[in-house]
Amino acid sequence: MTRPVHRVAPATDTPVRQESLRAHNLSLTFRQIVGAPAPISRIELAVATGLTRPTITRIVDELLAGGLIVEAGPARSGNSGRPRVGLSLAPTGPAGLGLDIRVDALSACVVDLTGTVRHLAFAPRPPAAADTLARLADMGRAAMAAAAAEKLTVVGTTLAAPGPVENAGVVRFAPVLGWRDVDAAAALRHALGEVMVDNDAGLAALGELYASAPALRNFVCVSGEFDIGAGIVLEGALLRGARGWSGSLGHVAVTADGPVCACGATGCLQHYAGLQQILAPAAPAAAPAPAVAIDILASSGDRDTLAALDRAGTALGVALSALINIIDVDTVLLGGSYSLLASWLTEGVERELNRRVLTASWAPVSVRPAPLGPDAAVIGAALSAIDRVRQDPNSWLARA
Ligand SMILES: [Zn+2]
Repeated sequence: MTRPVHRVAPATDTPVRQESLRAHNLSLTFRQIVGAPAPISRIELAVATGLTRPTITRIVDELLAGGLIVEAGPARSGNSGRPRVGLSLAPTGPAGLGLDIRVDALSACVVDLTGTVRHLAFAPRPPAAADTLARLADMGRAAMAAAAAEKLTVVGTTLAAPGPVENAGVVRFAPVLGWRDVDAAAALRHALGEVMVDNDAGLAALGELYASAPALRNFVCVSGEFDIGAGIVLEGALLRGARGWSGSLGHVAVTADGPVCACGATGCLQHYAGLQQILAPAAPAAAPAPAVAIDILASSGDRDTLAALDRAGTALGVALSALINIIDVDTVLLGGSYSLLASWLTEGVERELNRRVLTASWAPVSVRPAPLGPDAAVIGAALSAIDRVRQDPNSWLARA
């Protein structure tokens, strides 16, 4: 009698080495602490991860020694009534640096591992690209020094820039800045080390997502800075698109045969709702930031400005309703400089959404000012820089 021959399938996965298993379990445990709304105990970590108590004890010791977490004192009592020591993220150690180019200013921000803003600074924006990048380098260095004084080490830097960004470094086209194919990452590398560059509207949406968590999971954050940009968040994640270029809402047509835009097309939203275009009929670019100047003029009852704001709100509503009919989000945040003008824009945006979004009659879209407002992009940039450690703490532990 012959035994049946069992064919052994060739292994498709490589075996998990002990070291990568250790790193994997450490990341898994750390992410539980990152995601916990309150200090979490060792026992809760064991339950949440499925790892054994001794393994959790060893990982927690390693995270404590590496300065990534702290014991937060007795967090709660278990069923036995014994107090359990809660663990939370350390307010010292790794930090993220964000930089942002705004219409009226440059800004720099440091956030710690807990997501708390520890440093926020502003400086005027010089007109020339080279001067702008040199000043950003200075601000980045100053922010790193401020962080070091608070026992924080900057582990990553992200620059928020207008327009589409290629390969996380090159700003392809930012007409209002006069930038075309500017390698911002290369320009800042000498002063700041590796710098990621990302679109400002997307980073603003990330900042707002973090600030509003867990309440908001599906929304558009539309920012009126240079070009009008939309950061789209679906199921709690930023929608980047195939090449990271999603969200150029300013170049969606609201009238097919409108005026020619800087992009070469006609009838773009930018022409009707850009800050400079709202400001133009009433005043030359005034000394305060455009959004502030617009707000002052509108508050004083300036008719041209009020008419321009009405036109802008309507055009924004038209463009946003097309987007929402396709992607189905329940909330529009008026972000960046638009947050300062929300009281003038909301009515027009809501009116058009109610008219044009197919589902609005039984599920109206909520329109409101974004909580972080003009600071969202620089905070989002800093958060994206620290997020690499929050997702994988092993690189930090390896260098500590
Ligand atoms: Zn355009």
